[in-house]
Amino acid sequence: MSGRMSTDSVRSWPAAAALLCLGLFVAVCMSPGRANAVERQLGGELKRVLILHSFGREFRPWSEYTRSIKAELERQSPWPLDVQEHALLTARFNSPGPEAPFVDYLASLYQGAFPDIVLSIGAPAARFVQRYRSKLFPDAPMVLTVVEQRLINRSDLTDNDVVVSVRNDFVAAFRNILHVLPKTKTVAVVVGASPLETFWMDEVKRELKPLEGRLDFIWYSDLSFEEILKRAAVLPPHTALFWGLMSVDAAGIVHEGDIALRRLHAVANAPIFSYQEPFFGGSTVGGPMHSINETSEKTVNAAIRVLGGEKPSNIKYEPIEFAAPRYDWRELQRWSISESDLPPGSEIMFREPTLWQSYRWQVLLIAAIILVQAGLISGLLHERQRRQVAEVESRQRFAELAHANRYSAVGELTTSIAHELNQPLGSILTNTETAELMLKAASPDLDEVRQILADIRRDDQRASEVIRRLRSVLKKTPFEIRNLELNDTVREAIGLAAAVADGRRIALSYVPAVTELPIKGDPVQVQQVILNLIINAMDAISDADMKKREVSVATLRAGNQAEIRIADTGPGIAADDLANVFNPFFTTKPEGMGIGLAIAKTIVEAHYGTMAAENLPAGGALFTVRLPIVRQRTGS
Ligand code: ADP
Repeated sequence: MSGRMSTDSVRSWPAAAALLCLGLFVAVCMSPGRANAVERQLGGELKRVLILHSFGREFRPWSEYTRSIKAELERQSPWPLDVQEHALLTARFNSPGPEAPFVDYLASLYQGAFPDIVLSIGAPAARFVQRYRSKLFPDAPMVLTVVEQRLINRSDLTDNDVVVSVRNDFVAAFRNILHVLPKTKTVAVVVGASPLETFWMDEVKRELKPLEGRLDFIWYSDLSFEEILKRAAVLPPHTALFWGLMSVDAAGIVHEGDIALRRLHAVANAPIFSYQEPFFGGSTVGGPMHSINETSEKTVNAAIRVLGGEKPSNIKYEPIEFAAPRYDWRELQRWSISESDLPPGSEIMFREPTLWQSYRWQVLLIAAIILVQAGLISGLLHERQRRQVAEVESRQRFAELAHANRYSAVGELTTSIAHELNQPLGSILTNTETAELMLKAASPDLDEVRQILADIRRDDQRASEVIRRLRSVLKKTPFEIRNLELNDTVREAIGLAAAVADGRRIALSYVPAVTELPIKGDPVQVQQVILNLIINAMDAISDADMKKREVSVATLRAGNQAEIRIADTGPGIAADDLANVFNPFFTTKPEGMGIGLAIAKTIVEAHYGTMAAENLPAGGALFTVRLPIVRQRTGS
């Protein structure tokens, strides 16, 4: 038995698979919309649908209802459809010409082949199909749609008709204006001049009686649309415009689509209200209004049921009321209507996204970049402040170090200074003694005494000058830039060192430049550099106990630079040390500190100059200082 079962199951596999596929196919095909398409492809019976428009195909509000009905009908119909459309142009005119030729035309079209269903759009089309049905298509079922309930000719309704009517509640529409703009005093009603529009104007007038004490009404029914535009541009404050209908104006001009409404919106200085969704979305403020969806849904539902064989008289609808109020956000903004002043349950459409909503990521990115930048900037500012503090500190330390270095240089020059002072003081003493002796004589040579006194004065000045120089080198002053003549500055420094050179039996020579060397600098610091270099040069000669004992200082002009050259006949600098001599604390002297050259280089660089050390081919070292020449003449 188990063997037979397995054979059966093997044999039934292909069938089961085929069934599964079919099931899946049906499931996929039966999704809404697909089902109808499949049915149509399977060759359902063709259904002929006649649509009759009231004013023309493109007249709002009807055109928008028709568009929606056709699209929905196509989507829902299980049968292939042949939709034929005609427009009842006579509805436009106050004194319509004979309808007979149009009726004859339709009669000849549908003779012997009646449409399966007739859809009339709007009241004029409903009237027409009711009036001529017996002649044109006596047995065809009809759906009279997009028609206001008070315009239905009930006496002519048959069992073959379905009515999809709407109810215009003008009081509700006008109360909406007062609700959102309570200061409104006047409403200008835009309405055309065709028979249907005249009918509606009378209806609106009648219905609005209860609001008469509260609102003034202006009726534009007897104006050309161009005139309406002019008036709408200069309406007094607290006026609103009510867009009734504008198919044909008083000048007989027809207005298709929403061109007229858009033109009015462009010029009007007051908000526009309407009770029809087809006019909503760009021009009107909004409020309670007829919804396209609700009417087209009911119409299509009725049509499908009738085409499917259901008795039209079984399909009954109550007149469709206004849908829940909807408002155009852009118009609310324009007329400063607060969202909180809208009736409860209102929906706000066409809201423009905020900058945040549209560019959320960009905004976040920019904010992040700004934050990072702000962080970096504050970090840099903090760093800069710290650097400034550090710079001030380092300048102070340097000034102290430089000062200490000057003391040490002066220390080395003590002999020289003592000598410089001793000489004039000794001369003063000798001269004073000589003068005293001469004055003791019976007839002293007063001219000679005068001469001696002049010498004493000169020696005193010389001694004072030495002290002045010494004080100027030792004084602790802030960095002070002045106009200097470099030849003079060098000469003064040499003056301080000359006696030391003498004492050490070194020939200290100075060859100043033939031209003036105007520079800008701190005189004390520039002298310090020169003294350091001269002392180092003398140290080198003394240490090595050289035979040829010369330190030659020269200044010269090289282009736009002033140069000081200090050469000696010492042993020179060891090749390995050449790169290090300017490093702080580099010294080859047993009691050296190794800061003289480092300080000198720092001073020169602070004066925008350069400093270099090299060995001379004939032996000895050469230090070169270069400082920029300035245009100014010397003198502070
Ligand atoms: P210090 O004189 O205390 O050693 P410096 O910074 O003035 O410090 O000099 C650093 C070193 O550079 C010296 O120790 C010496 O070795 C070298 N030096 C400087 N000037 C000369 C020179 N004219 N000849 C040879 N060596 C020199």
